[in-house]
Amino acid sequence: MSKPKFQRVLIKLSGEALQDGQGYGISPDTLGLIAEEIVELSQLGVEVGIVIGGGNIFRGVAGSTAGMDRASADYMGMLATVINALALQDAVEKLGVPTRVQTALEIKEVAEPYIRRRAMRHLEKGRVVIFAAGTGNPYFTTDTAAALRAMEIRASVILKATKVDGVYDADPVDNPDAKMYDRLTYLDVLSRNLRVMDSTAISLCMDNSLPIIVFNLRKRGNMKAVIFGEQIGTLIVD
Ligand code: UDP
Repeated sequence: MSKPKFQRVLIKLSGEALQDGQGYGISPDTLGLIAEEIVELSQLGVEVGIVIGGGNIFRGVAGSTAGMDRASADYMGMLATVINALALQDAVEKLGVPTRVQTALEIKEVAEPYIRRRAMRHLEKGRVVIFAAGTGNPYFTTDTAAALRAMEIRASVILKATKVDGVYDADPVDNPDAKMYDRLTYLDVLSRNLRVMDSTAISLCMDNSLPIIVFNLRKRGNMKAVIFGEQIGTLIVD
């Protein structure tokens, strides 16, 4: 059998990825399917770090639009990511793969604090490491946390999971003629204001030449195909 193209990856999962058609919260069925894909990678010997979002539960921007102090609302958003991380941990461990959750805000009864060298050690031992609470700072997003953690753990790529097949020139949900790009540069994403990851995250990846692959998580087997180097989704590079 051919070898995976990537030895260590950082998967960015948004909170919405955990929902089903109903909207709010976490769907056990969806969670189970995502866990199966993650376990498949781990069993291939790929070292997997995951940054999980919290948008299915709370987003700081929504809180601040409703009149809350932005920093307080962002801390709520970060706590939401911890809830998702615990749910994902449970689902992956049910399938027999050991995991660790590391949080950027200390909640030490629940999860380890983020310690880079410790995270690397877990990865080397084949544990899936789930990074929660984003960067630990308000005014950031979990996309930026994904870029940061990917660099810190020396992942070779960020796998950005979405609901559509890749990056399009228009929203493919509203526009059936939208064209998908196979490949883009970081500057294309920034200058055309393409909604892939926020500009802080893209800039960080650009400054450090960290490739991003945007792919559809809802198609079974896609994650594995990406790992074996198949042309799936949109590749973002220099
Ligand atoms: N957040 C934050 N700092 C971070 C990461 C996240 O303040 O470093 C907060 C922010 O309020 C954000 C929320 O956590 O809206 C949930 O994260 P995000 O919106 O990135 O989740 P996703 O869209 O991926 O589900």
